[in-house]
Amino acid sequence: MRPFVVEAGTPGIKVTKLEHKMGIRASDTASLVLQDCHVPFDNILGSPEVAQEKATAGFKGAMATFDATRPLIGATAVGVARATLELLKELLANQGIAIRYGLPRQKLTNIERDIIDMEVMLRSAWLLVIKSVWMADNRRSNVKEASMAKVRGGDVVTKITQKAVEMMGPLGYSRDLLLEKWFRDAKISDIYEGTGQINRLIVARNILGYRGSELR
Ligand SMILES: Cc1cc2nc3c(=O)[nH]c(=O)nc-3n(C[C@H](O)[C@H](O)[C@H](O)COP(=O)(O)OP(=O)(O)OC[C@H]3O[C@@H](n4cnc5c(N)ncnc54)[C@H](O)[C@@H]3O)c2cc1C
Repeated sequence: MRPFVVEAGTPGIKVTKLEHKMGIRASDTASLVLQDCHVPFDNILGSPEVAQEKATAGFKGAMATFDATRPLIGATAVGVARATLELLKELLANQGIAIRYGLPRQKLTNIERDIIDMEVMLRSAWLLVIKSVWMADNRRSNVKEASMAKVRGGDVVTKITQKAVEMMGPLGYSRDLLLEKWFRDAKISDIYEGTGQINRLIVARNILGYRGSELR
């Protein structure tokens, strides 16, 4: 397994299918076919010494990229969740609904409790993202933390966007606002770069000290 770059327009590369998706529609997901496509040797990413490496080196390299990309998926999830929460609070404020922080929970309205719970979720996801990227920046092993940030981000953005659509009723469901778009965009954070279930397995293996073959 070895990543490489193929310049657009290179003879022999064809986009055969564009997926019609629920969310992240600004990003194309497509099937590519490479037939008689000549890729220059220099377009290989990473070490060009392919033949001398062990057969599994490419796979291990691909897995290692997840330590950098999973926190970024967590970060995009946090971004969508944050935008949702900010818009939701603005819409509520326009209706004269302000969140009364600092009151005992039983004195809050249901809306206030929901908003505060959403803020707690968002903050926890943000902290996990920050921790995992800080570890990567400082060259510390962050396999567990990268998966934690990804799992929490995917969970939180799915719950927050769903709740926002629910709280705003028909307006939340309408295309007049971005809430319905963010709701559709949210779920992918729980799917790609390893699903929530698979990342939970990775976290569990790391905490419990199991190998992949022992816990799957
Ligand atoms: C829009 C989109 C864009 C994508 N972009 C990319 C990309 O750019 N690059 C790339 O490499 N991939 C990409 N993917 C692929 C994506 O990473 C995979 O679809 C995802 O990791 C799930 O893997 P799978 O499709 O093999 O699902 P499956 O393994 O078939 O999983 C199906 C379901 O079963 C569950 N499941 C599977 N095994 C277990 C288990 N042991 N325990 C519990 N539950 C389990 C999964 O969590 C999931 O819910 C993209 C996918 C989508 C939808």
